[in-house]
Order: sequence, then structure tokens, then C-alpha cells
Amino acid sequence: MVDQWQRVIVHADLDAFFASAEILRRPELRGLPVIVGGQPGGRGVVAAASYEARAYGVHSAMSAAQAHRLCPQAIFLPGDGDYYRELSQRFRRILESYSPLVEMVSIDEAYLDLSHAGRSFASPGVAAEAIKRYVRDELGLVVSLGVATSRMVAKIASDLDKPDGLRVVEAGEEARFLAPLPVERMPGIGPKATAKLHQNGIETLGALARLSPVLLEPIFGKRAVEVLQRARGIDDRPVEPEGGPRRSVGHERTFSHDLSHLVEIERSLYQLAEQTGRDLRRRGLRAGSVALKLRYSDFETVGKQRRFARPTDSHREIVSIAIELAHELLAQRRAPIRLLGVRVTTLSDLAIQLPLFEVDPLRQRRLNLALDQLVERHGRGIIQPGWLQPRETQREVMHPFLQPFDAGQGHG
Ligand SMILES: [Mg+2]
Repeated sequence: MVDQWQRVIVHADLDAFFASAEILRRPELRGLPVIVGGQPGGRGVVAAASYEARAYGVHSAMSAAQAHRLCPQAIFLPGDGDYYRELSQRFRRILESYSPLVEMVSIDEAYLDLSHAGRSFASPGVAAEAIKRYVRDELGLVVSLGVATSRMVAKIASDLDKPDGLRVVEAGEEARFLAPLPVERMPGIGPKATAKLHQNGIETLGALARLSPVLLEPIFGKRAVEVLQRARGIDDRPVEPEGGPRRSVGHERTFSHDLSHLVEIERSLYQLAEQTGRDLRRRGLRAGSVALKLRYSDFETVGKQRRFARPTDSHREIVSIAIELAHELLAQRRAPIRLLGVRVTTLSDLAIQLPLFEVDPLRQRRLNLALDQLVERHGRGIIQPGWLQPRETQREVMHPFLQPFDAGQGHG
């Protein structure tokens, strides 16, 4: 089945992203009409609306005042760009764990080329299900996916079953899939072109696909041939990740409740380091140093950086330095923590850095790679609980810090 697929392109689009992001950190809002953007009394517009609000006819780009008239009981929230960008980065990294060919086209939307990664899955649909599950487990957000042999068909497919959609258009079925759809479903056919097509009795992409380019030139000009090809399901545009070599790799997380226990902090650092190590190994990179970022509940943000004894891609080495740095920062100020970030820099190619005659690092590396594969096939859940337990090598670091240190508890 996979062999018929020349390319496997996935379009991934987070559902009602800003609104879902707010509900994620305020679960009490779940099931309610939530509107992110302008306030009802102001002149702003709706940036995103939960599906509950959409049921009242609210949609993005509508004025907040109009949204308020349609749905007076809606909860209006201002946007939080930093928080959305952080979630977006995590979304991108989840996608990048399936293929290095990820192109973010907006904060909540990406194309992913799975043509080469697809072999480890029974079918492109199975791969898409794994991605969907991973995004839900790891991020707590729902993503709609379209899978096809081209960007355009994947994009249209991801939109059809929203929210929580998953639509696979089998290789060879593109034209048949597109034919019954209204012309305005196709990206690039805006309201003006739609109106003109309708005037000429052309309602569906199938009807459009049968026309000759000459007939379409008055409407689309030079794009006529391209539009026709797209309507027939032909679209060779590649997925193009942002160019240039990566200068750093890392993960950060804002917590739903502030962390006050060192054991929680170390556990989170372990998780962040594990993800970071996995990113390094997948890219064949080693890091020369690690930076820790720590944001207190009052938003004071501090950071500290340290070099490794020698370049590494091992999450254990990353976490041990990260924990060291955390202790040093917390020695200067102990207060509940809102965000933690681990980032490795001074990246170098594994091929250059790997010493030739060292057996142990190689064996460790193979073990790490095997675990990475396990995670990619089955999701984090399969190894996470065990990994996050204090282990022999970590116990001595973790043990003395089991007591909470938030202000009210009287620990210094
Ligand atoms: Mg979206």
C-alpha cells in the first residue's frame, strides 16, 4: 500500500488553537464558549473561538462586539503570545520527531513530509493516527490531519472533518476526492474567483478540472494552468523546513501549576533533557554546552549555562548539568517556578566528534537510539513512568530535596 505513495504529505492543523490553549491551562473552561482576542467593550476582533462559541456563529476576524451580541455568555480572554508560541514550538518538535521535513506555515499549522519515515508504519493512516495521539498525549491539544500525496490535497483533507479530523486520501484517488468539493475549498480560490466561477456555472472542483486553461485565464490570469492542475490533484510543491543549520536545540515548558518541590523540578528537567537528547540524536548532532532557563511565578526569569567535559548527545549528561544549574540558581532564590527550559548549544556533527575507539559511548548511544525508536512507534507512555522514577544514578541528587520549599512551608 505504501509503495503506491510517491510522497506522503501530512497537513496538521491544531483545532481552535488559541481557545484550546487557554482551556488547556484553565480546564474549568472546557465545554464553554471561549473567545480569545478583543474584549466585548473594545474595538478588537476575535482571534480564535472555541467550537462551543462557533455554534453561535462566532468566527475569527469578527469584531468582538459582534461576537458578544451573538454569544453574550461567552468568556472573553486576551491573547498570550508567549504562551502560544511556546506551545507552537512544542507542536513543531513533536512533528519533527516523525520527520526532519516539517514546514510551519503558521503558529498552529504545518506540513510534514513523511515519505521516508513512513516505512516504520503499516500505512500513512497509521502514522497519522500515531501523530494525533502523540500531540494529544504530549501537548493536550487536538490536531486535525490530512494525509495525501501532495500539500494541497492534504490541506483540503485536514479541514474536512474538523475538529479532531483525520482524513487520508489514498494515492491515485486525488482527482476523485476533489471532484465533488465546492471550488472555494481549494486554497488560492478566494471569494472573487469563487463568485466568477459560480457565474459561469462552475460549482465543484470536478467541473473546474474539466475546463481548458483558456477559459480560466480571464479569472486566474497566469495562474490558470496551475489552478487547473491543482483541481486535478497535481501539486509537486515540496515541504520546505526553515533553512539554515540549527544553532541550538531545546525544550521548555510552562506548568499548569507552579512547581515548588525540587523533586518535581528535577523530574521536569529530566523530561526536557530527554526530549532534547532525542532531538540531538535524531539529527546526528552533539552539544558542547547546556543552558537552563527558569522563570519564577512572578515572571522573573533567570538562566545559566555550562560546558560539557566533551560534546554529548546523552540526555543523562544533559540532565545532570541541568540539575546542577537549577540548584545553583535556586540557591540564590527559592520561589515557585512557572517555566523551565533546557537548551543545548555549540552543536557539532557527530561524524566529526565521535571518538573512534571508545566503545562505551557508542553502546550508550545505541541504547538511546533504540529507546527513541520505541518512543516514536508507541508514544512516550511506553517508557515514561519508569524513566521518571529516581534511579540509582540520580537518587543521590534527588533524595535530599524531597521537601517542598514554597514560602508558606517555612523551609529555607
Ligand atoms: Mg488551526
